[in-house]
Amino acid sequence: MNEYEAVIGLELHIQLATESKLFSSSGTIFGQEPNTQINEIDLGYPGVLPVLNKRAVEYAALFGMAIGSRINPRAVFMRKNYFYPDLPKGYQISQLAEAVIDGGEIYLEEFDRRVRINRGQLEEDAGKSVHDAFSDRTGIDLNRAGVPLIELVSEPDMRSAKEAVAFMRKIHHLVRYLGISDGNMQEGSFRCDANVSIRPTGSTEFNNRVELKNINSFRFVEQAINLEIERQIEVVENGGTVEQETRLFDPDRQETRTMRTKEEANDYRYFPDPDLLPLDLSQEFLSGIENLLPELPQNRRARYADYGFDADLLNFLVQDLATGDYFDAVLGKTNDAKLSANWLHSELYKLLDENTKTFSDNPIAADKVADLLAEIKANTISGNAGKKVLQELFTAPDADVAQLIDKLGLRQLNDDAQIRDWVAEIVAANPQQVAAYRAGQGKMLGFFVGQVLKKSGGKANPKIVNEMLREVLDA
Ligand code: ADP
Ligand code: MG
Repeated sequence: MNEYEAVIGLELHIQLATESKLFSSSGTIFGQEPNTQINEIDLGYPGVLPVLNKRAVEYAALFGMAIGSRINPRAVFMRKNYFYPDLPKGYQISQLAEAVIDGGEIYLEEFDRRVRINRGQLEEDAGKSVHDAFSDRTGIDLNRAGVPLIELVSEPDMRSAKEAVAFMRKIHHLVRYLGISDGNMQEGSFRCDANVSIRPTGSTEFNNRVELKNINSFRFVEQAINLEIERQIEVVENGGTVEQETRLFDPDRQETRTMRTKEEANDYRYFPDPDLLPLDLSQEFLSGIENLLPELPQNRRARYADYGFDADLLNFLVQDLATGDYFDAVLGKTNDAKLSANWLHSELYKLLDENTKTFSDNPIAADKVADLLAEIKANTISGNAGKKVLQELFTAPDADVAQLIDKLGLRQLNDDAQIRDWVAEIVAANPQQVAAYRAGQGKMLGFFVGQVLKKSGGKANPKIVNEMLREVLDA
């Protein structure tokens, strides 16, 4: 294996989260009844004209800027001609060399690898053939036809399956972070074609490559590439040459199989779509998008580096824009990074998740959480009571935190004199336990704490109770 190195380039299909299709007003919701999200344009009726979805162009430009690409203001839409039942027009509208996203780079820290981006084309998806095993018939569902995609093409800069997966994960995270795609791989919103070749380690030549089509999970991408590398090494070791071809990965049989060879390769007869003018993106439009570009995950990570968070917490805070922004807002008020991050991670996130929500549709304003954390810091309520307040806020997000604490009777008693009286009372009432404690049964302290808390109706600050009990019992 060490005699060979792999050369890998990826083509990622990223479905953009627009409400309507790339060139028509049909909806894009996944999982609807077949052929209910279609109109004359998606069906390729004669005489209809495509109308470009502005939001899709904005998303593509935003993504391109995030990966340091040039945005081509004169990108050209091309017709890629082929026949397939799920493509009623007989061509797909796509882009080629003059794509909207031009160049760029992704840096993979863990491998110290720079992966150059060749281009990102804005294009429409095709429909889907659905085979019904029961009737042994195949139907066509065109709901997906015309849904906007970015096809992102990398240069062949990766050298292992693990690097390819890291690249894919990074893009996946970024598109979700930016909110331009839901990245749902089961639903096909994020798919990968992997191009793989091998060469002697140290060589700079590029050999025939195999394209592995439509892989829809990180695990499968890694498996498919590794299987293909092994297969190619075996071919070469046996004195053969690797054919340039398209292969399919079969996860059940753990093998790749020929789909079509170079001889059968399609000639798509690309030409500029006469129904669509080239893009004409003004400087104003592009600056507008640039202003929308949020702080990127890697910069956010760097900014949080001083807080001493562990990897889990960091990953959580940069998981998407909403989480990071929310954290910043809470932190701005509490000035306590650890406390804020921990509460968002272990309490609020859990609560949102239980209610199938995320930070994007979180009903509780950051101010309220900051108010709550201030009460906890001031010891007016315990951490446990804080959780109850948070739950309450979830259903009554407009409530005043201080009033809510009073209403729920959660305000913690910090009154030293009052607690001291209770402590004296409990100690006096339990001479046997006192004797046991003083004879070395340190565990007995818990009993006393429990008694005093009970006496206070659960309101005494346990920390103060503990301290005072020790003081009296150890005297
Ligand atoms: P084509 O125009 O034939 O589709 P491209 O240059 O666009 O070829 O490459 C398609 C994909 O194949 C890109 O992701 C690229 O990085 C990758 N690729 C190109 N040459 C090789 C190679 N020798 N080995 C592996 N991947 C390659
Ligand atoms: Mg190509």
